Amino acid sequence: MKIGALYIRVSTHMQEELSPESQKKLLLSYAKSHDIFVPEEFIFMDLGISGRKADKRPDFQRMISMAKSKPSPFQVIVVWKFSRFARNQEESIVYKSLLRKQCGVDVISKSESIMDGPFGSLIERIIEWNDEFYSTNLSEEVFRGMKEKASRGGYQSRPPLGYKIKVNGEPPVIVEEEAKIIRIIFNKYVNEHCSFFDIARYLNSLGLKTSRNKPFETRSIEYIVQNPTYCGMIRWNRTENETNRIKSKDEWIIEEGKHEAIISKDMFEAAQERYQSTYKPRGTRPSSTYRHWLSGLLKCPSCGRTMIVKNMRKKSDGSNYSHFVCYGYCKGKCLAKTSISSLKLEPAVLSSLEEVLRTENICFEYKEVIIVEEVDEKALLDEQLARLKSMEQRMKDAYRAGVDTLEEYKENKKFVENERASILEKINNIIPEVADDASDKKLMLSKIKNVYEALQSDSCSNQQKNEMLRSIIEKIVYNRENDTLDVYYYLSKTA
Ligand SMILES: [Zn+2]
Repeated sequence: MKIGALYIRVSTHMQEELSPESQKKLLLSYAKSHDIFVPEEFIFMDLGISGRKADKRPDFQRMISMAKSKPSPFQVIVVWKFSRFARNQEESIVYKSLLRKQCGVDVISKSESIMDGPFGSLIERIIEWNDEFYSTNLSEEVFRGMKEKASRGGYQSRPPLGYKIKVNGEPPVIVEEEAKIIRIIFNKYVNEHCSFFDIARYLNSLGLKTSRNKPFETRSIEYIVQNPTYCGMIRWNRTENETNRIKSKDEWIIEEGKHEAIISKDMFEAAQERYQSTYKPRGTRPSSTYRHWLSGLLKCPSCGRTMIVKNMRKKSDGSNYSHFVCYGYCKGKCLAKTSISSLKLEPAVLSSLEEVLRTENICFEYKEVIIVEEVDEKALLDEQLARLKSMEQRMKDAYRAGVDTLEEYKENKKFVENERASILEKINNIIPEVADDASDKKLMLSKIKNVYEALQSDSCSNQQKNEMLRSIIEKIVYNRENDTLDVYYYLSKTA
């Protein structure tokens, strides 16, 4: 009697696959009838991992390293099919010959019997080649199938905020009150350069809620900003079913949908562009260590190219500072020596902002925002008021019908009154959008004030400071000759 191991693998893509339990049952009875004893600890299973690369199969690796110990604790490995052992011929040959020659372990397939003798290995290779072909083909088939389903208009059962399913099996339809929120989010993100955090805080301050009727979080904004549903597309295959892990982008399927878009494709693209340029995967160095808050804003007075940042260390005390040098100068294309140290530049920029705020003497240009999305704060707040009114009516009814006690009714009424007061206050605080020069100047100054406060704050990262500056400043030019700093402000204006 031989001692054997079982190797069981189920790939996520296979629907006609035997379940791991049935594979195990089959293999155990096969082993029994072939005089192979399989101890429980030699049953190896990799579940739900596509077998193209062996290095993603932890139990497979454990089995191989066990087989390598001398003497090997088992003499055979039984698999259901060779395609369960490895998914390409090369890998299969490498592992089989390693197991056979170095460990004296044979790999046996329950479903494919291998003849001994010179033709045995040839046939084995043919089977493997066939399986590999099948595997490549299969993943393409699966992909094609999903794509087809998506293009036929297969929709998720739970549409995102902004949509609802009216008729089962039909594309979702727009919920106008929620669609407004989506437009605000994209508008704030793309045109006003707000952070996810700022947008969430803003929406919560208006009393708006997510599709699950919860306050907005940074995460929910981040998700919405990346969801192509909003520009009329459908996205498939983004996450793994079991784990919700986000798959690599080239596995996603994005197709034109049959539902109505809430925002334009240009708007969605602009949001993706901003997301890509600011997104830092977790685990990488925090942006503050390599990105200066003036990055990309300072331009060479001689050639107009961007001044790039070099990180320096002060010899005297080891502290870090930055040095801005013309990119053209670095490449030998600009001859002017226009470099400046952050130790000099930072206070100069701050005092320039201070001066503007103090004197209220400001020059700025208008920058047209290409994409127009209407945001009517007043209307949104009015809707909240209407919502409170109907809530109040329901409370009255509940009290009259004897559902609520007088105490409960009083308490509810107090809550509604507080809410109403805070909404009315917000309505009063809305700056009327009168398009005259004086109000634009006021708006510009209030934006500068916000940015200036953020620059002083320790809770803002360099990345955030940089983005805020970019939302009001086109460029900064330092002129070394006469030691002057020119700050070019702009105000976004919808076309
Ligand atoms: Zn230059």
